[in-house]
Amino acid sequence: MELVDTPQEAAFRAEVRKFIEQYGAKARPGGGNGGGRGEDAESGWSADYRERTKAWRDALVERGWIAPAWPKEYGGAGLTAKEQFILNEELAEDGLSNVGGFGVMMLGPTLMVHGSDDQKQEHLSKILKGEVVWCQGWSEPSAGSDLASLQTRAIRDGDEYVLNGQKIWTSGAQHADKMYMLARTDPDAPKHRGISMLMLDMHQPGVTVRPLTNLANTQGFNEVFFEDVRVPVRNRIGEEDRGWYVGMTLTDYERSGIGNAVGTQRRLEGILKQAKDSPEHLVSGKRGGTWRLAFADRWIEAETARLFSYLNITIQTRNQVPNHEASMSKLFTSELGQRISATNLKLHGLNGTIWDRKREEGDHGRAAGGYLQAVSATIAGGTSEIQRNIIATRGLQLPRG
Ligand SMILES: Cc1cc2nc3c(=O)[nH]c(=O)nc-3n(C[C@H](O)[C@H](O)[C@H](O)COP(=O)(O)OP(=O)(O)OC[C@H]3O[C@@H](n4cnc5c(N)ncnc54)[C@H](O)[C@@H]3O)c2cc1C
Repeated sequence: MELVDTPQEAAFRAEVRKFIEQYGAKARPGGGNGGGRGEDAESGWSADYRERTKAWRDALVERGWIAPAWPKEYGGAGLTAKEQFILNEELAEDGLSNVGGFGVMMLGPTLMVHGSDDQKQEHLSKILKGEVVWCQGWSEPSAGSDLASLQTRAIRDGDEYVLNGQKIWTSGAQHADKMYMLARTDPDAPKHRGISMLMLDMHQPGVTVRPLTNLANTQGFNEVFFEDVRVPVRNRIGEEDRGWYVGMTLTDYERSGIGNAVGTQRRLEGILKQAKDSPEHLVSGKRGGTWRLAFADRWIEAETARLFSYLNITIQTRNQVPNHEASMSKLFTSELGQRISATNLKLHGLNGTIWDRKREEGDHGRAAGGYLQAVSATIAGGTSEIQRNIIATRGLQLPRG
């Protein structure tokens, strides 16, 4: 990929900047960051956030930018990979991210490929308008990395499935209207072949959502229990028992990870600014020395994270799908997030460990909270070990097992 914009791309970038200046203010952090995983109630899923960011969302919808990767015929912007990259880069530079969540990123693209005409008709425009909030029911207590071991059972009863079982770590389920999920429809088939993908209403009898509090004391994900939940057969996406393959085809929309890399760099810049503006408040600052070296390392790493994003977008502009390259980017950027949090904590010395937002010392618990929150990114969407396995086997062709 050319790192320098063509005149056409530069014009598009200017259009995005103008748009952000006009509409972005209400959607900036503090007003939530829109649709990431594992966040607290001040996030893209909460009713309050959705209300406050309505103007922003409507303006994005109008341009098709809420789903920049979707084809125009489905209400997306049909942007090229480079244009998506520019849009995401500019949004992330401003501390903004897209607001579509799981519906835009995962379910919409799946329905376009595998959904019936009725399903597309019923769901795509509601996803775009943000009228329905979706959550993703993949993981179970004994099926995370080894997802195909999932046990939630869907038994056919006429025109319906009867669902029993449990999901866990379901981000945003406490705010969601609907869930797309994987359930076992044939327990006797080899484990990847007896699974179907279903869509269900979260507000119906038999669905119980129990929020989980994470390490950082926020409630981003949940347990979800199903007890004799009835799901119409017409809500199955794709063929019965082929849901594994349906579910696995939906990940190649916006995989550059540019939002994460730029967001990480912005976070580092914020910490740097604090170190420059008020070193007298920083215990380590008084000692001088080592923290400067740590910042130099983090800065180099943040630049490297950006380069990984450029690599992925280059692959996409060749109409190829990043594979182990996406894993390298995810692994490096999420682990860098932890290193930045650790550097920040050290910078604040013992005050950094104070985790009480009402106390004046430290930075009102932000350093400690950020340190704890940073763990989740190395687990969500495939753990660091799983990413390393992908890099080792698919990237380096090392033998499995
Ligand atoms: C913030 C957050 C949000 C999430 N949101 C959702 C959501 O919305 N919907 C959803 O369905 N799930 C969600 N998840 C769940 C996530 O997908 C799983 O946590 C993840 O896939 C790991 O599964 P597990 O927790 O069962 O851990 P396990 O798979 O049990 O892994 C435990 C440990 O063993 C290691 N391990 C496992 N297998 C291997 C292997 N083959 N080689 C080497 N090491 C291995 C892992 O790396 C890990 O360290 C979320 C998780 C987090 C943290």
